Amino acid sequence: MTTLDRDVVIIGAGPSGLTAAYELRKAGKTVAVLEARDRVGGRTWSQDMDGATIEIGGQWISPDQTGLYSLIEELGIETFERYKEGASVYMAADGTRTVYTGEDFPVAESTVAEMNKLIAEMDRLTAQVDPDAPWEHPQAAELDMISFHHWLRTLSDDEVACNNVGLFIAGGMLTKPAHTFSALQALLMSSSAGSFSNLVDEDFILDRRMVGTMQGVSIAVAQRLGEDVYLNNPVLKLDWSDEGVTAYGADVTVTAKKVIIAVPPNLYSRISYNPPLPRRQHVTHQHQSMGLVIKVHAVYETPFWREEGLSGTCFGPSSIVQEIYDNTYHEETTGTLVGFISDLQADAMFELSETERKETILKDMATYLGPKALEAKVFYLSDFGSEEWTRGAYATSYDLGGLFRFGPDQNKNVGPIYFSSSDLAGEGYQHVDGAVRMGRRAAARIAAAVDGTDEDLGYDGVISKFGTLTSLDA
Ligand SMILES: Cc1cc2nc3c(=O)[nH]c(=O)nc-3n(C[C@H](O)[C@H](O)[C@H](O)COP(=O)(O)OP(=O)(O)OC[C@H]3O[C@@H](n4cnc5c(N)ncnc54)[C@H](O)[C@@H]3O)c2cc1C
Repeated sequence: MTTLDRDVVIIGAGPSGLTAAYELRKAGKTVAVLEARDRVGGRTWSQDMDGATIEIGGQWISPDQTGLYSLIEELGIETFERYKEGASVYMAADGTRTVYTGEDFPVAESTVAEMNKLIAEMDRLTAQVDPDAPWEHPQAAELDMISFHHWLRTLSDDEVACNNVGLFIAGGMLTKPAHTFSALQALLMSSSAGSFSNLVDEDFILDRRMVGTMQGVSIAVAQRLGEDVYLNNPVLKLDWSDEGVTAYGADVTVTAKKVIIAVPPNLYSRISYNPPLPRRQHVTHQHQSMGLVIKVHAVYETPFWREEGLSGTCFGPSSIVQEIYDNTYHEETTGTLVGFISDLQADAMFELSETERKETILKDMATYLGPKALEAKVFYLSDFGSEEWTRGAYATSYDLGGLFRFGPDQNKNVGPIYFSSSDLAGEGYQHVDGAVRMGRRAAARIAAAVDGTDEDLGYDGVISKFGTLTSLDA
């Protein structure tokens, strides 16, 4: 057993924990990072599969994600553009396949008009929402009481329009059915990306990727931290008091002045806290849960769709695979497609045997891109739901009513215990950018507190105006 004494111990070597440790080190603090897995990067993870580079977890960066951009600039990491040339394919609920160009889905003119109306309303409200404090919006309470599914239907009776617009946030982002989260949660998602229009524009939100993969960002930071990163050390027990903390890993124990818990919120309760966390945290942490999405990777001898003038981008809100993109890695000559199967469809796929699952998924992809899609030489499904140290994908969000009720407390430290996660971010929420921003923020708060130059803020500079049931009724 190794015993260490540090200024700050960080639990979790994903992008958020590593960024926090890196910033603290730059501020002259001593750190130790304890990581449960045998690798760094958390929900970013890449592997070579039969010569193709596969990013099993997070991979894309959008132009507004300046937190992550500034980090990779510092690390000397380059980006490359996703292949976007050519037409897209849309699959209607009745199985009609349409090849189209331009921004609008090839649906009835009246549906296009309804979709644009819904998008404009989302943009209007999004502009009023502070991603760091969505609960402060004047209508936050009521927007958090209604599911996104039902809220859309209060604005339009065009079912296709509601499903298509719903997909961008439900299947596409939170990876939960639209009836399980609120309109306010949807607005947090869009405000975290600047606007709803940014979210629905795949050329914006899925703009570029890292040369060296997204996990490479964490690997580069971990290299700078050197032997202060301890792998295979899940922390299951944490002693804490106003004087400091002791974190117990498998073979490393760290005493420190402060701790940053940089694991996804659904895993906070894996740690046994001594003394227990306060009531507020006990309850809050039960309302943040992971979505579920299968990321499908299919590698082909060549990117055959390009020869047919297709970009590889496909949408089918009622299909099994609801989105597909060309995911060929930088300078590779093989062609890679990535597809996404969300929430209820993902449940259904996991009911099948491995062989049936592969057959069903490739057949569905072939409805968009033709029979060549059946001939994948590598077929791999990301299954973060089975990963003990994640338990879902992409990230966590609140249940109905949870964001307004608990959000104001989510970034509050408990004595020496601070939380940092992409899932607690405003800008960059649920993305690596948010993980980096939160890591930097936690590091800045702690550096000041350790130096005694500033008091712990408690709330991270954000105080809710709506704390009581009376205000809910107002
Ligand atoms: C399939 C998938 C696709 C995604 N696509 C994108 C994308 O294209 N672009 C994008 O920006 N984001 C994407 N994301 C989201 C992005 O990967 C996450 O937002 C980001 O990785 C979160 O970073 P984090 O450090 O907050 O948490 P994590 O990456 O989850 O890191 C947390 C770390 O804590 C460790 N840990 C957990 N419990 C303990 C414990 N008790 N003790 C010690 N260690 C522990 C975990 O092993 C993990 O390494 C995707 C995620 C998934 C799953």
